Amino acid sequence: MKIGIDLGGTTIKGLLFTDAGEVAAEYTIPTPARAGRSAIFSALYCAVDSLWQDGVDLIGVSSAGNIDPSKGECVFATENLLGWTGAKIAEELNKRYHVRTQADNDAICALKGELRFYRGAKNVTMITLGTGVGGASLVNGKILRGKKFDAARWGHVILFPKGLKCNCGRRGCVECYLSATALVKSGQKQMLGIVSAKQIFDRYAVGEAEARDVVERFGVYLNVLLDNIRTTLAPDLIILGGGVAQSEKLIRGLIERTDDVAFARLGTLAGAYGAVEPI
Ligand SMILES: [Zn+2]
Repeated sequence: MKIGIDLGGTTIKGLLFTDAGEVAAEYTIPTPARAGRSAIFSALYCAVDSLWQDGVDLIGVSSAGNIDPSKGECVFATENLLGWTGAKIAEELNKRYHVRTQADNDAICALKGELRFYRGAKNVTMITLGTGVGGASLVNGKILRGKKFDAARWGHVILFPKGLKCNCGRRGCVECYLSATALVKSGQKQMLGIVSAKQIFDRYAVGEAEARDVVERFGVYLNVLLDNIRTTLAPDLIILGGGVAQSEKLIRGLIERTDDVAFARLGTLAGAYGAVEPI
């Protein structure tokens, strides 16, 4: 059996897989993202403990940040996971559970999870729209890694020079405009009582003018990102995942060209599925 854990900026989602690959149990817990590394590890352990059964021989973690998959270590994480830079994820889990452990970037894991539906595909890019914006690209059958495991981080390409300050230390990144966090901030400037992206989408659906402003701007930015990906990599497919992409119908309506765009079929569990795939 295997345990796959997706460690996001808001939620830790865990799945227990049977040897046949079926989901036998599911566990979700909020991420103590602002409480620092040991609190995040404690929450991870809590998820693994809850899913643990005799016979588990692999624990895989899909984590936000730049991850060195050969060591299962977080090389760099933004403040979306405070103190997570330097976390030896695979090593710590191995010390505690004494089974094979691995860790990889969350968007890469989501991509690996989704690829089960696109066997043979060689050029696919995954974008996860969640607390942050994750990116991963499969090019000619290989996942782009980059020198510091920081290639294809589509959430941190610049949309606006000198734009909003990003958690990565730069300004104007895609993440500042397309993440759930960004949507909520933008919504709060114009509307009352906004705490989630879903609320903004719901109010857009009933025709509220302020919500239309926020959502249409989001659509413009999303189209720019998709266009930049097409121009850079010319993928066969761009998959949108993460919590925001759960509102598939609405987002489809905002996209100018949909022939090469798909939505994560594993939904927000794509990362947990991909976490146990071979590195
Ligand atoms: Zn950034």
